[in-house]
Amino acid sequence: MRRTIARRLLDRLFLTGEVVEAEQVTARMRRVRIGGDGLSDLRWAPGQHVRLLVGDGGPLGGVLRTYSVWRYDPAWEALDVIGFDHGGDSPGVSWIRGARPGQEVSFMRPEGSFALAREAPYHLFAGEETASVAFGAMLGALPEGASVYGAVEAGSPEDHLDLPGGLVRVCRGGASAAGSEVLVNAVRELELPDGPGVAYLAGEARTIQAVRAHLVGERGWQRRDVRTKPFWTPGRKGMD
Ligand SMILES: Cc1cc2nc3c(=O)[nH]c(=O)nc-3n(C[C@H](O)[C@H](O)[C@H](O)COP(=O)(O)OP(=O)(O)OC[C@H]3O[C@@H](n4cnc5c(N)ncnc54)[C@H](O)[C@@H]3O)c2cc1C
Repeated sequence: MRRTIARRLLDRLFLTGEVVEAEQVTARMRRVRIGGDGLSDLRWAPGQHVRLLVGDGGPLGGVLRTYSVWRYDPAWEALDVIGFDHGGDSPGVSWIRGARPGQEVSFMRPEGSFALAREAPYHLFAGEETASVAFGAMLGALPEGASVYGAVEAGSPEDHLDLPGGLVRVCRGGASAAGSEVLVNAVRELELPDGPGVAYLAGEARTIQAVRAHLVGERGWQRRDVRTKPFWTPGRKGMD
């Protein structure tokens, strides 16, 4: 009985879909397409994410892990997420690595407030691999002629996603993505117009803080000009 109630509750909270495609898109990033009947009328804005129920516990014992939506098209009845393989064996990355067509997956509807500004003199993006997924969706949704700047960091040249917008690519090599000076320095070196635009900073939490400190402290931006979304940080699980 208790199990039935829990199952009903889960069915209200979650959509059920199926992995319909999975492919390696960079050396350490895998795109997973999730399809299903409930995916023909989702409300989604570029920059938003879904929470997937993953782990070994089955529908009643899984854990939630968050992935930005790379693409969604109601006509496909499917959405794409792209997961970065950070090398651990934790539930999210294990699910991304193991996703195969035919596999059932429960997930929550798209949500989140990390979104494009309606108007901005220019848009500035900065983050590492995990952030580049949201950035891809956001860049693709900018009006033609929008002015774009930014830097994306990856472990190696083979780890960069193909993104529109001409963002500068930098590599951290073997250095940690946490509190990354490589990314802060890349943003510092950008030749930006006079005056602030709107910045979108995502990915590792300490790096985001450092990039924001640079924009506010060294370039004179207001904090309100900077939109941030921490995705992960060492030692924290399933950050949201
Ligand atoms: C709004 C939002 C959107 C996100 N979008 C994406 C996305 O599109 N693609 C994507 O790959 N990730 C994305 N993430 C990050 C993803 O949810 C986390 O990386 C998540 O922690 C992975 O789950 P896990 O079970 O593998 O690791 P957890 O169990 O959460 O953590 C285990 C350990 O791994 C470490 N860890 C987690 N992520 C990384 C990393 N990237 N590099 C190094 N160490 C790490 C943790 O700090 C922790 O110590 C997003 C997060 C949020 C909040």
